[in-house]
Amino acid sequence: MKQHNTEALRQQDAAHHLHPFSDMQSLNQQGARVITHADGIYLWDSEGNKIIDGMAGLWCVNIGYGRKDLPEVAKKQMEELAYYNTFFKTTHPAVVELSTLLNEVAPQGFSHVFYTNSGSESVDTMMRMVRRYWDVQGKPQKKTLIGRWNGYHGSTIGGASLGGMTYMHEQGDLPIPGVVHVEQPWWYKHGKDMTPDEFGLQAARWVEEKILEIGADKVAAFVGEPIQGAGGVIIPPATYWPEVERICRKYDVLLVADEVICGFGRTGEWFGHQTLGFRPDIFTTAKGLSSGYLPIGAVFVGDRVAEGLLAGGDFNHGFTYSGHPVAAAVAQANVRALRDEGIVERVKNETGPYMQKRWRETFGNFAHVDDIRGVGLIQAFTLVKDRSKRELFPDWGEMGMKCRDIFFRNNLIMRACGDHIVSAPPLVISKEEIDKMLDVAARCVETFEKEVLF
Ligand code: PMP
Repeated sequence: MKQHNTEALRQQDAAHHLHPFSDMQSLNQQGARVITHADGIYLWDSEGNKIIDGMAGLWCVNIGYGRKDLPEVAKKQMEELAYYNTFFKTTHPAVVELSTLLNEVAPQGFSHVFYTNSGSESVDTMMRMVRRYWDVQGKPQKKTLIGRWNGYHGSTIGGASLGGMTYMHEQGDLPIPGVVHVEQPWWYKHGKDMTPDEFGLQAARWVEEKILEIGADKVAAFVGEPIQGAGGVIIPPATYWPEVERICRKYDVLLVADEVICGFGRTGEWFGHQTLGFRPDIFTTAKGLSSGYLPIGAVFVGDRVAEGLLAGGDFNHGFTYSGHPVAAAVAQANVRALRDEGIVERVKNETGPYMQKRWRETFGNFAHVDDIRGVGLIQAFTLVKDRSKRELFPDWGEMGMKCRDIFFRNNLIMRACGDHIVSAPPLVISKEEIDKMLDVAARCVETFEKEVLF
């Protein structure tokens, strides 16, 4: 294994590299952790620490690290056809084969995909696509997109606008015109004395109210993550999505699922909307499509929208690397492996249920842990001041960060989204590895309650 000079790397990193979503001054004082290699669910840093990756990178390495077949596929494709575009009446085998495969794993009625390089690009593509769809229908005034507070849809101007992260909106005068938000379906905070099912219907009514406020003839689409990921793994009550779907149909508003995190097996089905029980018109993906081995995203276009777009002639949109041959070849090998090695199926029937049972057992008895939740291999709990009153800590995010730092010190990566502690490990995690991960996590939360809270 190649030796790395940690100090030199840190200094050069500090001198020349601006990190995403980071306070560079404080990061540079501390020095970034240098990750050098990885295998399965484990990462190693330049100081030799072996780290459990309870986040699959950024919720993306579904297939786990260190696969030998994917680099082989990439090498072969790069030698054969490293690049060609798909703009001007051309295509290539890798992108055709991937599209055919995606049609096999997608639910019925999603026969077409549009390629991007990331989740943000998938979201921006979808935003332009729904507006184009309504143009072609002769309803160009149907332009407004409804997103949700605390939703996350990426960092581009479109995606950051549609997302409901106010700390992102504050930087750069977002959202752009034509994007509005409704409250998120988070029962623990917003549910008051309603049952979760009652609250799910209430939260769906917020969508209806917003449609009526704007005017249904001006609303293009409602967009939501089946489960809000970066917002803290907010799983809406079971009543929410079917009611949102009914409302969207009633007012002829397109329903869009942002599956960038939930897609490709994370929830135990291929796509999160299948787990949550609704049918979108379009869904956006990235991350798990290639398990992060190369950047690629895809917008799955339902037949209604696809037919509309096809009828409209040119859709003036696309990226130099839409359907990049090497990324497409690697994505194809990844999706085949997720399917043919039974990885998605195992999440549904075996490791998912096991994680959910053990996750609840592990954290159920801590005084300041509540709302323990999850499905498949995406799970979370919330650090709270007083469980009996569903009372959160006053300075949202402070406790989460302290707890997260304890995980990091103990070579376990889980993430704090505010005071939600979230986890989404590679889908190849075994039951033994789940036990190991949760043993470390339990010790960390114990330390947190002892050292930080008392
Ligand atoms: N949508 C969702 C639901 C996401 O979780 C993310 C990334 N976490 C994005 C979009 C943006 O993806 P990317 O970072 O690849 O642009």
